[in-house]
Amino acid sequence: MNDRDSETLLGLFLDKGYSSVENPEDADVILVNTCSVRDHAENRAISLLGSYKNLKEPQNPKCKIQNKSKISNHKFSDTRPPTPDARKIIGLIGCMARNRGEEILKKMHHLDLVVGPAHFDKIPEYVDKIRQEGIRVINTEDGERSEILYRPLYRLEPGYAQVVISTGCSNYCSYCVVPFVRGPLRCRKPKDIIDEVKRNVDLGIRRITLLGQNVNDYHHKPPSHQVTKSQGEDLRGTRYAVHSTNASFVELLKMVAGIEGIEEIDFITSHPKNTSRELFQVMAESSKIKKHIHLPFQSGSNRILGLMNRGYTGKDYIDLARDYRDLVKGTLSTDVIVGFPQETEDDFLQTKDILEKVNFKYAYIFKYSPRPNTKACSFKDDVPAEEKQRRHRILLGLQKQISLTNKL
Ligand code: SF4
Repeated sequence: MNDRDSETLLGLFLDKGYSSVENPEDADVILVNTCSVRDHAENRAISLLGSYKNLKEPQNPKCKIQNKSKISNHKFSDTRPPTPDARKIIGLIGCMARNRGEEILKKMHHLDLVVGPAHFDKIPEYVDKIRQEGIRVINTEDGERSEILYRPLYRLEPGYAQVVISTGCSNYCSYCVVPFVRGPLRCRKPKDIIDEVKRNVDLGIRRITLLGQNVNDYHHKPPSHQVTKSQGEDLRGTRYAVHSTNASFVELLKMVAGIEGIEEIDFITSHPKNTSRELFQVMAESSKIKKHIHLPFQSGSNRILGLMNRGYTGKDYIDLARDYRDLVKGTLSTDVIVGFPQETEDDFLQTKDILEKVNFKYAYIFKYSPRPNTKACSFKDDVPAEEKQRRHRILLGLQKQISLTNKL
C-alpha cells in the first residue's frame, strides 16, 4: 500500500511540473513516507528524517518561517527557532505522521510538513502554502481519501499497476496498528475501480494487483436511492452494469477479469478467516488470475491465534490451504509472527508444524514487537529477545529449505 501511495504522490508532483532527483541534496521537497507496522521500520524512518536536518543549511537570510501552524486540525505548539532557510521542504508523511506526528515534531524542528495517509492528495497544495507563506503544515486527521488520489497515471513499472480497492481495516487483530493509522475499512465504488483499471489499460498496462488490507472484506452496497426504477436505466449503465449492484470481492474480481486488455491479475492481502472456496473457484476458472495467494497464518497455536484475535484455528488454516491446492493448484505465501506475548515452546512448535505442512513458496517471518494503541500492547511482552531471535532463526532456516525444494 505504501509503495502505491508513494507512486501516486510522485504522479501528483510530476503533474504539477516537478521532476524527481536521485540525491536528497538536490531536492527542493523531501517527503518520507512511513510505515508503522513494525518498530524496525519506524526507527529507520526516524533516523532518515534526522539525517536530513543537515540539508537545511541557511540559504536565504531574507526568508523567515512563521512559528505557527495554519493548516491543522491537530494544533501543536511550534517551539522551533526561526530558521533562515525556507527553500528545502522536509516532510514526514504516512502512518507515522498519524500515529506519532506530535511526538516527532517536538524533537525534529526541521520538519515543515506532517501529513497522515488520509490527506495525501493535498500535499502538493500544502507544499505551495509552505513556500508562499513560510508556515508549517500539520494534518494528521483520519478521513475518507479523495478519488483524486487514484487519478495520476504515473507508474514506476512499465505495464504494471497497483489498484487500491479499499483502505483501512476494521478487523483489529490484537498486534496490528493498521486500524489506528489507516482508519476503519473504507471501500471504493466498483465503478471507480473499474474506471481506473480501464484507464490503465488505455495506457498499455496489462498486469494489475488489487490492493486492500484484507481484500476479502471488500463490499459495496449502493445507497437505496440508486436502485429506484426511475433512475435504474442510467445508474445501471451500459458499460459495466455495476453501478447499482452490491459487490463482494469475488464479484469485483470477476468484473476486473472481464475487462478486455487485462492479462494478469493478482491481489493482496487475504485474511484466512474470510477467504472463501468461492474465491478459489474464481481463481481456478479465470486464466487471467494468478495462481498464487498470500495468506498470512501468523501462528499455529489456537491459544495464540485467540490472543491475536484472528478468528480461525490452526486446523481451519490447514483445511483452507488444502482446499486452495485442490481447487486452484497454485502456490501460497504467508506471514508469521514469533515471540507473541505468552508464546510457549509448544505454541512455537505448532507454528513450525504449519510451516512444514503447508509448503509455502515463501514466508515473511517477523519477531513480535508491541505497537502503540493495539490490544496486544497491554499484554506483557514476556518472550525474551534472545528467545524471539532463536525462534526467528529456526523458522527462517526451515523456510529457506522449503523454498529451495518447493517445486510448485
Ligand atoms: S486484517 Fe488484521 S493484520 Fe491485517 S490489516 Fe487488518 S488488523 Fe491488521
